[in-house]
Amino acid sequence: MKIGFIGLGNMGAAIAANLVRAQHEVTVWNRSATKAKPLVEAGAALAPTPQAAASGREIVLSMLADDAALRGVLASEHGLLSGLHGGALHISMSTISPALADEVASNHAARGQRFLCAPVFGRPEAAKAAKLFIVAAGDEADLATAAPLWHSIGQRVFTVGNKPSQANLVKLCGNFMILAAIEMMGEAMTLAEKSGVAKAKLLEVLTGTLFDAPVFRTYGPIIIEERFRPAGFAAPLGLKDMRLVGDAAEARRVPMPLLSVLREHLLQTIACEGEDIDWSGIAKTIAVNAGL
Ligand code: NAP
Repeated sequence: MKIGFIGLGNMGAAIAANLVRAQHEVTVWNRSATKAKPLVEAGAALAPTPQAAASGREIVLSMLADDAALRGVLASEHGLLSGLHGGALHISMSTISPALADEVASNHAARGQRFLCAPVFGRPEAAKAAKLFIVAAGDEADLATAAPLWHSIGQRVFTVGNKPSQANLVKLCGNFMILAAIEMMGEAMTLAEKSGVAKAKLLEVLTGTLFDAPVFRTYGPIIIEERFRPAGFAAPLGLKDMRLVGDAAEARRVPMPLLSVLREHLLQTIACEGEDIDWSGIAKTIAVNAGL
């Protein structure tokens, strides 16, 4: 397929590389053009603007940091909206607000363009290994158009509805639960350590009994080994996601008291450790708060 790919950060670069490897004809754009170098060496073309990356493509995928980044890429003078031809499909893989997804869906529809949301679960290592979990929502025909791409970038796709923003809601709920699991592990490991039980032993018991889930097996060792830098998922992006969860919860009148704790711990972690720490660094904050 002729594919445009916009956003070559930790996740986007890995996903785009897999699409190139799968022999698709990929044209990439990134705000910082230097990040495109390895992809160009692997066979991708480099576009000077999002508009050029979208022009003449059947499908354009975007993997950008947040709502502001996607807004800018869509609507700037040489933006994606002006480059995508009628009938072409934009697949947004970024973790964005459901409200923005609704807005983008109507902007594309007004131009006869098609739009899907397909955010993902999995860190950059999973993206590199084409092991992402893809959460997709949108029109059935658009999902069918996108279907041949999924096996090149992920291990499983879940379709969650016919409105693109539903996928973003599911993704945000998932990130809330991941951070809650990290908080839980951070608190329990701190208590164990202060009581003379090794954190690794606690994790071994828990993942060997009632907590044998990928979230504990992935983040447990990261916390124990304090592998918080370089960040696989930077704390400011996690803070952005918790803000989006809060906005969605407020709009739907859903009290989420645990969310407030997670936000405060992320904020404290970024304030004390800097912007470059992984979001699992909240476990360090929890330990420091306990005097460790
Ligand atoms: P990242 O490494 O920080 O990359 C962010 C990308 O967005 C870069 O391409 C960056 O361009 C671009 N960008 C940021 N602001 C922009 C702007 N104003 N205009 C144009 N481009 C802009 O982030 P990531 O980890 O790849 O995450 C990308 C998305 O995937 C986020 O929505 C994140 O929540 C989600 N996600 C991440 C993970 C993870 O573990 N990392 C897992 C699942 C989902 P530059 O290169 O020029 O800065």
